[in-house]
Amino acid sequence: MTEVAKTLCPYCGVGCGLEVLPPASPGKAVHRDSQGNPVWQARGDRAHPSSQGMVCVKGATLPEALDKDRLKYPMMRDSLDQPFKRVSWAAAFDRIVEQLQRVRQTQGPEAICMYGSGQLQSEDYYVAQKLLKGCLGTNNFDANSRLCMSSAVSGYIQSFGSDGPPCCYADLELTDCAFLIGTNTAECHPIIFNRFRKYHKKNKRKVKLVVVDPRRTETAKDADLHLAIRPGTDITLLNGIAHILLKQGQINALFIDECTTGFTEYAEVVSHYPPAQVAQVCGISVQDLETAAQYWAESERVLSLWSMGVNQSSEGTAKVRTIINLHLMTGNIGKPGAGPFSLTGQPNAMGGREAGGLAHILPGYRLVKDPWHRQQVEQVWQLPPGSISPEPGLAAWDMMLGLEYGQVGFFWIAATNPAVSMPDLERTKAALRKSPFTVYQDAYFPTETADFAHVLLPAAQWSEKPGVMTNSERMVTYCPAFRLPPGEAKADWEIFAEVGRRLGFESQFAFESSAQVYDEFVQLTQGRLCDMSGISHQRLADVGPIQWPCPVSETAETAVDKHDKRLYTNLWFATPDGRARFAAFHAQGLAEPPDADYPFVMTTGRLYGHWHTQSRTGRVEKITKMHPAPLLEMNPRDAQKLEIQSGEWVEVRSPRGSVKLRVQVTQNIKRGTLFMPMHWGFLWAEAAECNALTHAQSCPMSLQPELKACAVQVWPLSGE
Ligand code: SF4
Repeated sequence: MTEVAKTLCPYCGVGCGLEVLPPASPGKAVHRDSQGNPVWQARGDRAHPSSQGMVCVKGATLPEALDKDRLKYPMMRDSLDQPFKRVSWAAAFDRIVEQLQRVRQTQGPEAICMYGSGQLQSEDYYVAQKLLKGCLGTNNFDANSRLCMSSAVSGYIQSFGSDGPPCCYADLELTDCAFLIGTNTAECHPIIFNRFRKYHKKNKRKVKLVVVDPRRTETAKDADLHLAIRPGTDITLLNGIAHILLKQGQINALFIDECTTGFTEYAEVVSHYPPAQVAQVCGISVQDLETAAQYWAESERVLSLWSMGVNQSSEGTAKVRTIINLHLMTGNIGKPGAGPFSLTGQPNAMGGREAGGLAHILPGYRLVKDPWHRQQVEQVWQLPPGSISPEPGLAAWDMMLGLEYGQVGFFWIAATNPAVSMPDLERTKAALRKSPFTVYQDAYFPTETADFAHVLLPAAQWSEKPGVMTNSERMVTYCPAFRLPPGEAKADWEIFAEVGRRLGFESQFAFESSAQVYDEFVQLTQGRLCDMSGISHQRLADVGPIQWPCPVSETAETAVDKHDKRLYTNLWFATPDGRARFAAFHAQGLAEPPDADYPFVMTTGRLYGHWHTQSRTGRVEKITKMHPAPLLEMNPRDAQKLEIQSGEWVEVRSPRGSVKLRVQVTQNIKRGTLFMPMHWGFLWAEAAECNALTHAQSCPMSLQPELKACAVQVWPLSGE
């Protein structure tokens, strides 16, 4: 290839447009790495409406990981103590199909599970749903979005009647007050933060930035008001703000009356959250609490952003709904610059949700439990009535329990690394070890999860297969193939489709291209909130990214607001009565609060340069130099008490495991709270497996584990 390829960054849910340049273009010098090897280059795409030419270190260094440590050929082994041997695709498919048929006959379809990822493109997700939920008759497809976004999904469905973030990035520029809770946007979604800051600085707009986070993160350092609450006190804080607004009459009574239900019960609950009590529970001053309420009251347009700090919680759905409550109470929704806006973690977690890529949903924001929804999907899939099970499948952690209890006989993992990212890692690894048959499909090798596989399938990654991804603001971007996959690697959807055909579903998987897959998928969105029936590969390639909803009736000429579409602008929600629902939740706090034995709360999170479990970023020199090893952040007074200096080694123990790492003493963290990054698995030098410490207690509604916090003790390791 000699042309510049316009595509999307495949790391995070910001979804920045990229231009990728081949190592050699006519008339240009060859780009080389530090060893003199020709390399691809990436830069921001100025024409992409979401990122407007900006790109962070991950996107800019992406090409360096394209060719390193790629899995090129199918490999198999009979047991985990044997080495892998290269095999043909035919041999790998034969073994997979034979195992699927055997497990289905002997244990039933519910013993088959697939665990996917927001790294998959929409076409991959869609074909996997058809295979598992349609043809194999089990809803046991879940994705790592369960660890990331499922509380937001559940909160939106319960409050608005449908999933779908209502806002868009243009709202960052139009808001009067950005209320950031549980998100270190400056480091984890850096281009969103850059876009917010750049615009207001350039236009000298007075906008308030409130950051709610136990740590003084790079985001918090920039805030007008930083509320460094105790971990797990978010709902207390939000109810406390609502209490003040209600007392002062700073509510939108007309909106509440005409567009919502449940306000009376909500008002009763928040009456129990007076400022003095809230401030004391949260560990902040009454004045700061009142200032936060004042910002909500005096701002015409408030935009809330959140991510893992809210979602990864045993009360994740309640937190999401409590944020939404504040928007409903003040009428901050359905208008420019205002609304509740969850930031997606992965590049195509949104596409996964649209394609039905969680165990309780079906394509087009449909629900497994709804008989009419199942029937609609069965018709498009040309399957007999009753093919789709009415029971939601196993969520991510329940799959681990299924392996532990011997209920899962076939486990298929695609594009994710659960041996690092799941909670309670020793238990996770023991469960993976017990799996009778695990297929691991990925672009990279080695990874930690490959250690637990019987069959390895080489997957073509982004840049090697054409496909589509949707970012956090519902912007759909076409990602062309501009390189050949290495060795015998295949697109994920092609692998799923081939297995489907070999199982006898010839017509269901007779796709000749990913464009055909996409065309079938968007049919299933027609008439739904996430209507994308007007989008195709060709149209995206012709006109560039398109935001949904984009019904088939919308053409490039009729689209009036192509890049700043919002949901619910007519104030009619997706509930049966068209009204949004208030939710009355009392705060429960952490599932595992600190006690005399485990006196610290350890919070977990991400660093600016690394992405998840380092499958890619761990192979980029600039990033590994930026973050060579994990560090445990500790407040100076805690360090003094334990007689620990910065750079010294400690052992951190929770009731489930222990890790050793160095300490970074910093004022940026509250006393009694620690912070550990989650990126290091056992593959890397100075590995400290953060999730060896975390627990799997989950939100009962979203089934998202509380990966954000657990109770630990710390022991100095003198002399190491
Ligand atoms: Fe990629 Fe996210 Fe960085 Fe944008 S902000 S370049 S999408 S990692």
